[in-house]
Formats: sequence, C-alpha cells, structure tokens
Amino acid sequence: MLLVHYHELGLKRGNRPLFLRHLARNLRQAIADLGPVNLRQVSGRLLLELDEHPDPAAVRDRARRVCGVASAALAYRVVSTVEAMKSVVAELVEGRRIESFRISARRAFKTYPLTSVELNRQLGAFVLERVATRVDLRQPELEIHVEVMPAETFVYVDPEPGPGGLPVGASGTVAALLSGGIDSPVAAWRMMKRGCRVVFVHFHSVPYLPPTSQAKTRALVERLTEWQYDSTLVLVPFGEIQREVVLTVPPPARVVVYRRLMVRIAGALARKHGAVALTTGESLGQVASQTLSNITRIDEAATMPILRPLIGMDKLEITDEARRLGTFEISIEPDADCCTLFVPKHPATRMSEAEVGAVEARLEIPRLVAAGCDGASVEVFAFPA
Ligand code: ATP
Ligand code: MG
Repeated sequence: MLLVHYHELGLKRGNRPLFLRHLARNLRQAIADLGPVNLRQVSGRLLLELDEHPDPAAVRDRARRVCGVASAALAYRVVSTVEAMKSVVAELVEGRRIESFRISARRAFKTYPLTSVELNRQLGAFVLERVATRVDLRQPELEIHVEVMPAETFVYVDPEPGPGGLPVGASGTVAALLSGGIDSPVAAWRMMKRGCRVVFVHFHSVPYLPPTSQAKTRALVERLTEWQYDSTLVLVPFGEIQREVVLTVPPPARVVVYRRLMVRIAGALARKHGAVALTTGESLGQVASQTLSNITRIDEAATMPILRPLIGMDKLEITDEARRLGTFEISIEPDADCCTLFVPKHPATRMSEAEVGAVEARLEIPRLVAAGCDGASVEVFAFPA
C-alpha cells in the first residue's frame, strides 16, 4: 500500500471533505499513467492499494510531489493482531545490521486493547530477541512505524516527506506573471502549494527580440505542470507596446509603466481564464522596480489583488528553492527577455502617483491593453504527458 498523510491544520471541519476530494483527484491524476490504482480514505489518511502494481516506488515518488501531501510511505498491511504485526516487523529487520531502532506505534482509534506504549514495548522486545541491536528513541537508525486502524494495521519505514500545503484547486485560480527569470517560477509554485491552480502569462518581445524567452517559459511551465497536471500558458506580444512607451515616456519611468501595463493586460487575461488574482516573483528591494514605492504604483494599476509570495525572501532563499524545483537550470539559460528591451540603466525607485499618471496620460492605455489581449496566444501543457 501507499500510505499518504496530509496536513489538515487550519482546516475547518466543513472544508475537509472538499479538501480531500481535491487531494484524491490530484493523486489519481499524478499517477494516471503508472497503472490502475485503487484509492480509499481511512481515518485521516489516504491509501493507495498497490498489491498488483508493477512499480510501487514510482507511485510513491509521484505522490510525494502532490501538494497537500505531508508524507508518503510504502507500507505493509496486516490484520490488527500483535502476531501479524510481528511477522512484518520480522521481515523488516531480519538479516539486517541495524545499529539502533525504535518502534513508533499509533492508534487511529482508542478502543484497541493495547495502548501505543504497550505496542512499542511488545514489538520492541520482539526485535531485540531477533537482532543484535539497541533501542534509541532520539536518533534511531531505523524507525518502524505502526499505525493501527479499526480494521487493519500499517507497518512501514522511511516515510518520504511531501510538499505539504494544500491540494491544487482547493484555493481557486491565480494568474502568474512568468518571466524567464529565477523568481517568478518559484512564486508560481508557492501559490500552487497554497492550493491555487495557476494560469501562466508571459510577455515577450518577438519580433524585436529572438523567441528565447518563450522557449524558456515553455520549459518552465512544463516543469511546473508536474505539480498541477495541466496548465495554460498565455503568451502576450509586448514589443510593440514597449516601442510606443519608449516614444513618449522618459527612461527612468519606463519600468514602472511597463509593469503597470503588464498587470492591466494580465488582469484582463486572468479574468478570461477564471483567475481572481495575479501573482509575481517580486521581492522587496531586490531591484529598482521592486521598491515599496514602485510596488505601490504597480498595485494602483491593478484591478485584482497582486499576490507576491516571495516578498520577504532573499535571493539566496529563492535560488535554493528554484534548485529544489528544478527550475533554476532553465531560468539561468542566457536570454534576452522583454525587460532587457528598451530598459533604462537607472530606473526611478520612487515616483508619485501623479508623476506616473502624467506620463501615462501621453499613452492610449486602453488601446495598448486591448492590443496585448488581442495579440495573446494560448498553449496547453499536461502531466503526465
Ligand atoms: P524574475 O526572476 O521572476 O524574472 P526579476 O527579479 O527579474 O524576477 P523583475 O524583472 O522586476 O524581477 O520582474 C518582477 C516580476 O514581474 C517577475 O517576477 C514576474 O512576475 C513579472 N515579470 C517580469 N517580466 C515579465 C515578463 N516578461 N513576462 C511576465 N511576467 C514578467
Ligand atoms: Mg526577470
């Protein structure tokens, strides 16, 4: 069996069934190509039956990448008698050199005739009779978990941690502004981990720049789709819009004006795709466009909330997370993204609302926003492919 534990912290009683429906659906989808698996719920856990499965380890590895999963472990199922538990424990320890071990028994229902302490003692003594080892409760080399359910008991070692968080789909849909950079893929993943389905929006400058940023973005979306199983990527032509901005907007104000146009266009596209908020990879003070003042100016142009999951993170922390996710290697590929086109060396770090309003008055904002939306093209991605 694969025994899946989930986080339910902070979940109100009434939401739990919905949360579980999302989690079960996502688990099924994550392993869809690995063969048929029966899935059921048992007191605070999900169970995937793998007796006949050709590759249980592959199922576990997929499951531990499903948001909402706290841990996943390949487990033996036995009837809830101490004798049956002992026979599995024997199989786990026999013929092994184990420096130290512990038994960690838990009862999912309290009417079982033995307490978990008694189970630990009986099974621990049983191990000591068979192998030359010792008990170490603090740092055992081998921890044998025993979970007693009403009708069955699960015995396992080495539970693999999952990402935790909430299952994708449980929190609604957001649109992530995805550049080819390091930060925005991490931000998108953070939103997935909080239960959001993410629609991706990328602004490119083809034909003013080569299509490398689109290729990188596709590779990033492909990687991130492994966490949400199907994705939509909206590609927005931005070069022509930037060219118009350059004609009238003085260099220091351009970055904020670009960003304000991006959030307006992304907001309109987000709505079309059922998203109710935007998300970006901004981190406070990381670059000139991400000062508190500029972030305020960007928010003023938005028509829906902009969520910035990385706002308090350092570049190093973000980079570490990008490495864990496997997006880092893609992000550092050389590329000329639209933000390198027509971008001044010294962007303003502080502009008032009136100053931005004055420069934007020279632009036909609604026409530019409509041009971005009309020129957008959509691509879809699926995992497992
Ligand atoms: P990243 O590493 O995500 O590119 P960054 O450190 O380069 O971020 P900025 O260039 O200021 O920072 O971009 C801030 C945010 O604006 C990005 O995290 C991303 O969400 C969004 N963004 C920037 N450029 C684009 C683009 N071409 N398409 C879509 N979103 C973009
Ligand atoms: Mg960038």
